[in-house]
Amino acid sequence: NGGPLATTSGGMKPVQIAQVKGNSRENRTAAHSHIKGLGLRSDGRADTNAQGFIGQVAAREVGVVVDLIRAKKMAGRAVLLAGGPGTGKTALALAVSQELGTKVPFCPIVASEVYSTEVKKTEALMENFRRAIGLRVHETKEVYEGEKLRLDPSIYEAIQKERVRVGDVIYIEANTGAVKRVGRSDAFATEFDLEAEEYVPVPKGEVHKKKQVVQDVTLHDLDIANARPQGGQDVMSMMGQLMKPRKTEITDKLRAEINKVVNKYIDQGVAELVPGVLFIDEVHMLDLECFTYLNRALESSISPIVILASNRGSTTIRGTDNLVSAHGVPPDLLNRLLIIPTHPYSANEIRSIVATRARLEYSSAAPPSLQADKPGAAQGLVQTTQLADESLDLLTKHGERVSLRYAIQLLAPSAILSRCRGSDNNIVTAQDVNEAVDLFWDAGRSASVLREQGTSTSF
Ligand code: ATP
Repeated sequence: NGGPLATTSGGMKPVQIAQVKGNSRENRTAAHSHIKGLGLRSDGRADTNAQGFIGQVAAREVGVVVDLIRAKKMAGRAVLLAGGPGTGKTALALAVSQELGTKVPFCPIVASEVYSTEVKKTEALMENFRRAIGLRVHETKEVYEGEKLRLDPSIYEAIQKERVRVGDVIYIEANTGAVKRVGRSDAFATEFDLEAEEYVPVPKGEVHKKKQVVQDVTLHDLDIANARPQGGQDVMSMMGQLMKPRKTEITDKLRAEINKVVNKYIDQGVAELVPGVLFIDEVHMLDLECFTYLNRALESSISPIVILASNRGSTTIRGTDNLVSAHGVPPDLLNRLLIIPTHPYSANEIRSIVATRARLEYSSAAPPSLQADKPGAAQGLVQTTQLADESLDLLTKHGERVSLRYAIQLLAPSAILSRCRGSDNNIVTAQDVNEAVDLFWDAGRSASVLREQGTSTSF
């Protein structure tokens, strides 16, 4: 209501200065929200079913890598998870980042993402490296304490006149209501720290209360916070340009400057680096230039943990004249890799994984489309959708026949179809699953139907 600086009727409500963040990256890990770690016992062995992980026991002992990382024995090296699609490679990489601690960055990409007409591929790789390196900043912030301030429109106007922006610390004179910017609350802030709180009057001359706060950001967050937003001319990015007239795009120079500041903070003990996990799926899609870059980046003193994944055997290294190598990775990089195989799941394992996802996706935390809108829902008595045993059997079969991913993808449409059918007990039946299968074909089926129709060449 009214953008980043807003107040409500009569100026009687506190102002909130907030920034809306995109969530496209979070969506990528949403499919793995049931994974909470590698599920290892204290002797490093994996339990068959722990922390959301089911089966894939040998590969989960990738936990050794976590010990190597802690012992600083992974410098210059990387991990390669080798196995078919849907064998939990992404889930394993995510779990490694969780084992490293809370708020450790996890940056999953597919190798082909580095190719674009706008950004050089090595630049795109660099950006993702920096997304996977966190910085934990401990600082003392000034926070306002005391009685609630009833903001009247004149103060609101004063805030606008002062061009107060996200992350600023403001000072409001209690008697006159004059507003003064007293500086940035946090050199790295992208979000106003008092976002959810309410402003309170700070009488002139009074010392603000100091509070120890910890902020987790990534090097990439710092890059963008200090660069002019590009592209998408939404209101916020235009505001950004208005407020930071001398800032530039993300360049090597800007990154070097940021590294300098970061190093200074580290030396002063104000911040610490938190290397996270950069996961690069379908690594055979990288070309020789990218591999050269990767080799160099792994040597850097601030490298994240790099986990590569491949479902290819021997294949041509992209960017070479038919030079064939295991997983399409050049031998010099292969030599630095710890290779961990992943194996296809048994029917029972598929069944358990599908059941776990169903419990989660059909719970009350699921989008409203999957929740029952039955009497009582408004009072919070939401009856969650459930998967009938016959449906779980059917989904397991599709998981075996096509892939685990396909089976899981059928969960949401099956629930919607069940509701459309008017199911009054919120049970997803085999009929619902069959209908979902009829609507959403797997790749093998769609290709074979086109082949039968003789249309495959027209694409
Ligand atoms: P890959 O990267 O090997 O293709 P993935 O980790 O991306 O596999 P998906 O194919 O997306 O896995 O798997 C579908 C779903 O199954 C995801 O939600 C994933 O978290 C889950 N999953 C895969 N393996 C396991 C496992 N061993 N235990 C629990 N959940 C798993």
